[in-house]
Amino acid sequence: MNARDAARNGTLQGRPAAQDAAPTLRHWLERLSATGRLATIARPVALEHELAAIAKRLDGQQAAVFLAPGGHAVPVVSGFMSKRAWIAEAMGVPEAGLLARFREAAEHPLPCKEVDRAEAVCQQVVHSEGIDLHALLPIPTHSEHDNGPYITAGLVIARNPRTGVQNVSINRIQVHGPDRMAILMLPRHLLAFYQAAEAAGEPLDVAIAIGVDPLTMLASQAISPIDNDELEIAGALHGAPLPVVKCLTHEVRVPAFAEIVIEGRILPNVREPEGPFGEFPKYYSAREAREVIQVTAVTHRERPIYHTIVPAEMEHLLLGAIPREATLLSHLQRSHPAVKDVELSVGGVCRYHLWVQFDKKREGEAKNVILCAFGAHYDIKQVVVVDTDVDVHDPGEIEWAIATRFQADRDLVIVAGAQGSPLDPSTTVGQPEDAPPHLQGISAKMGLDATRPVDYPAHVFTRVRIPGEDRADVAQLVAASNTDFAAYLGVGDLAGEA
Ligand code: MN
Repeated sequence: MNARDAARNGTLQGRPAAQDAAPTLRHWLERLSATGRLATIARPVALEHELAAIAKRLDGQQAAVFLAPGGHAVPVVSGFMSKRAWIAEAMGVPEAGLLARFREAAEHPLPCKEVDRAEAVCQQVVHSEGIDLHALLPIPTHSEHDNGPYITAGLVIARNPRTGVQNVSINRIQVHGPDRMAILMLPRHLLAFYQAAEAAGEPLDVAIAIGVDPLTMLASQAISPIDNDELEIAGALHGAPLPVVKCLTHEVRVPAFAEIVIEGRILPNVREPEGPFGEFPKYYSAREAREVIQVTAVTHRERPIYHTIVPAEMEHLLLGAIPREATLLSHLQRSHPAVKDVELSVGGVCRYHLWVQFDKKREGEAKNVILCAFGAHYDIKQVVVVDTDVDVHDPGEIEWAIATRFQADRDLVIVAGAQGSPLDPSTTVGQPEDAPPHLQGISAKMGLDATRPVDYPAHVFTRVRIPGEDRADVAQLVAASNTDFAAYLGVGDLAGEA
C-alpha cells in the first residue's frame, strides 16, 4: 500500500479530521511530494509569464514548486489543491463527504487561540523599514495582458471597525510600488469594513497572509454572515483552534503558521489605477481606480514559501466552488429540505451555474428552489434543478435531463435586471465603459426546471436500465472471459500476444 492509499484508508476508517488533515502547508506539500504529486522545477524561471505557464500546464495533475523563481531564493508553489479528491484528502474525508464536512465546520466554528510572537513562525523574520516587495518576494505576473505582478493567494484579514470581529477573503492585489498595492474589493464584508472606516476618515488595517494550508485557504472562501470569522471555520476544519498572532504594526490577528505576512492599511479617499487582470471567468477585468494598500511591515518564516494561484485554473475555481457549494446547499435546505446535493459546474467557472439535485414531491416546487438559489448569492446566474435519479456531478447527465425533461415555454424561469457578477463580461453590454460601481454587474437570472412530473403515464419517464447492471462485478468477469477466449482461440495469453 502506498502512502496515498494509506492516507485514503485512514480517512475511510473514520479517523477524525484533526488527526488526518494536513495541519500546515508544509505537511501538505510533504504528502504531495511523497505521493508523486509535487513537481519540482529547479532551474531558474522568469516571474513574468513563464512560471504561470508551467504551473498552468501542471494544474490538476501535479502541484508545482519553483526553486529559483526570477532569481529569488524564496520558492513559489502553485496548484496544491487543484483536484476535488485532493481537497477531500486534505480535509480527511471521502470526496462525497466534502460539502457536509465543510458545512459542519462553517456552522460550528472554533475560536482561535492567540499565541505569543515567540511561537509564531510567521514573524521569525521582520522587515519594517525600506520595504521593497519586489526584492523581498517572488511575485509573478500571470496572464498576457495583466498589468504586472499580482498577489493572487493572499488571505486578506481585517477587523470590523464596529465590532472588532475579523473577516478573511482572497482579493487580487496588484503590486505597483515597492510598498504600495491596489486591491479589488467586491461588494462583500471587507468592502463594508473599509467603507465604515473611510466614512470616519480612517484607514482600514489589513494583513495579507501568504502560504497557508489547504483548509485555511478553503475556510477563507466560506459564504457566511458578516461577523463570522473565517479563521474560526478554519479551526473547525482542522479540529483544533487555529493559532493566531497579533501583527506587529496593528491589531489584526494572522495565522501564526503562515509562511509570509504583509501588514498594511487601506488608505481612505485614495484610489489608483488597477488592472487589467485575467480573472476567474477567463476574461480580463478592466483598468479602474481602486483602493490602495500602504504596506507597513513584511514578516515571514525563515526560508519562507510563496504561494501563487494561477487565475481561472482549477485551484482557483475549486477554492471558490467547494465552500460556495456547501453554503448554497445549506441555504437551499433551510427552505427546501428535499434538496439533496449541488454542484457549481466547472464550465460555469465554478461560480455562475448551479446544478441542484432535488426530491420533488409536488409540482411547482422546483421553481421555488430556483428562486431560492437566485437569492442565495449574486454570482448565481443559471440554475438547473434535476431529479434524484440524475447525477448532479456529471455534466452529461445534466444535459440529458434538460434534453428530456425540460420544455422552455413551461419550465424556464427568467428574472431580468438582478444583481450579478461584475466580472461577467456579458453584464457590461449596453453599459458605458465608465459605469459607476452601483450600475455594474446587472444581470438576468435563468432557471431550468429539468425535473419530470411527479405523476406520469407508465414508461413515459421511466429511465432505461438493465436489471443487474449495478451489481455486476465487471472487472472480475472481464478477466475470466479473456482467459476463456484465449483458450477457445487456442493461443496462450491474449494480453501477452497483443
Ligand atoms: Mn466574511
